[in-house]
Amino acid sequence: MGVAWLVIGHSLVTLLVVVSFLCGQWPIFRGTPIQTIHRFITFGAYDYFLRFVGAVFGLKATNAILSLESFCCDRPNPILQIIYLAIIGTTYYFVAKSSFAYIPGYYLSEVHRYLSLLGVGVGVLLFILTSFSDPGTVTAENVSQYLSVYTYDNIIYTEKECYTCKITKPARSKHCGICGRCVARFDHHCGWMNNCIGERNTRYFLAFLLWHFLLCLYGTIAIGLVLAGRLKELRIVYILTVYYGVENSFRSLAPHIVQWLLGSFNTQILLMVFLAIVSLLMAGFFGYHANLCLTNKTTNETFKWEDYISWRKKISEARASAAALRSSISELSSDKKPPESKWKAYFRRSPLEDAEDVVKNNKFDKGFVHNLFEIVFPYSTRRSFSRTKFKSG
Ligand SMILES: [Zn+2]
Ligand SMILES: [Zn+2]
Repeated sequence: MGVAWLVIGHSLVTLLVVVSFLCGQWPIFRGTPIQTIHRFITFGAYDYFLRFVGAVFGLKATNAILSLESFCCDRPNPILQIIYLAIIGTTYYFVAKSSFAYIPGYYLSEVHRYLSLLGVGVGVLLFILTSFSDPGTVTAENVSQYLSVYTYDNIIYTEKECYTCKITKPARSKHCGICGRCVARFDHHCGWMNNCIGERNTRYFLAFLLWHFLLCLYGTIAIGLVLAGRLKELRIVYILTVYYGVENSFRSLAPHIVQWLLGSFNTQILLMVFLAIVSLLMAGFFGYHANLCLTNKTTNETFKWEDYISWRKKISEARASAAALRSSISELSSDKKPPESKWKAYFRRSPLEDAEDVVKNNKFDKGFVHNLFEIVFPYSTRRSFSRTKFKSG
C-alpha cells in the first residue's frame, strides 16, 4: 500500500501548492499557512533567487533578470497563453494515448473519442475569443457613449481624467497599465489571456471558466469509467474472490483493487487527480466571478469598496472617539457623580462600537436578471449605444 500513500501525498501536496498559488491572497486565507506559502511562491522564493544571483554572478546578472521580469509581468506577452495551450494539449495527448485504446469500452461508447476532442476544441475557441476580443476599450470616439451608460455613483467613482489617454474616465472603467488603455467596466488584467477582462469580454471569460470546469469534470468521470470498465471486462473481482480467496466485501476488495489500478493504470490515476483538482479550482473561480456578475460588481470594485469601507469606518471611529472624549471632559467639569460600578464599566459599550455601520450601496446592481443581461449583451454591443450621447450637467 506504499504506492497508494505516495499518490495520496502527491495529490495533497499538488492541491496545497496550486490552491496557495492561485488563491493565497484571497481574504479567507489571511493569516493562514496558505497565505504564507503563496507569499513564498510568488515573492519569497524569487527574492531569495535574486539575492543568490546577485551574490554569485553580480549586478549585471541581477539587472538582466529584472528586465526579463519587467518583460514578463509589466508588458503584454504571450508566455502564459503558450503555457495554457501546452497544458491543455499535453493533457489531451496523455488522455488519448493512455485511455482511447479502451474506448469503446464497457461503460463508454465510441462517441466519447469525438466528444472529448470537441470539448477541447470549444475550450480553445473560448480561450481565443477571450484573449483576442476587445474588452471594451474607451477611446475619444466612444467615451461620450460610455459616459452616458456608466454614470458616476459619487461614492467609489467620481469624474476624473485618465492622465495617459487624456479622456474622461467613465464610471467603472480603469486604465490598464500593462495594455496602456482605458477599459470600460474593467474587471482585471488576465495574464493567462494576455488581455483585460472588461465590459465586452466578461461573457467569454465566464463561459471559458464554466466550460473548463465541465471539461475537467467530464475528463475525470470518463477516465473513472474507463477504469471501471477495465475492472468489469477483466473480471478482476471474480479473479480476486475465486482464485485468490479474497472475501467478497468492499472492505476486503478495495485495497487489492486500488493496488491493481495503481500498478496497471498509474498514468490514468495521475490524470484523474490532476483533472479533479483543476475542475475544483475552475468551479471556485467560476463561482466567484458568477457571484460578482449576478450582483453587478467587478473584481476591481471589490477592492475599491474595501478601501472605501475601511476609510469610512476610520472616520466614523474617529468621530465616536471625539464624542466620547468630549462627554468625559464635560463629566469631569460638572459636579462629581457617584463612581460607576466595576460591572457596569465592564459591560459598557466601547464608544468605537457605536461607530455607524458602513453600508455598501452599489447603484449598478439592478437585480439578477438585469445584471446577467448586461453581461451577455454588453451596452456597447447594443444598437442603441451608438445613438447615445452624454448629456453633461
Ligand atoms: Zn487610460
Ligand atoms: Zn490589460
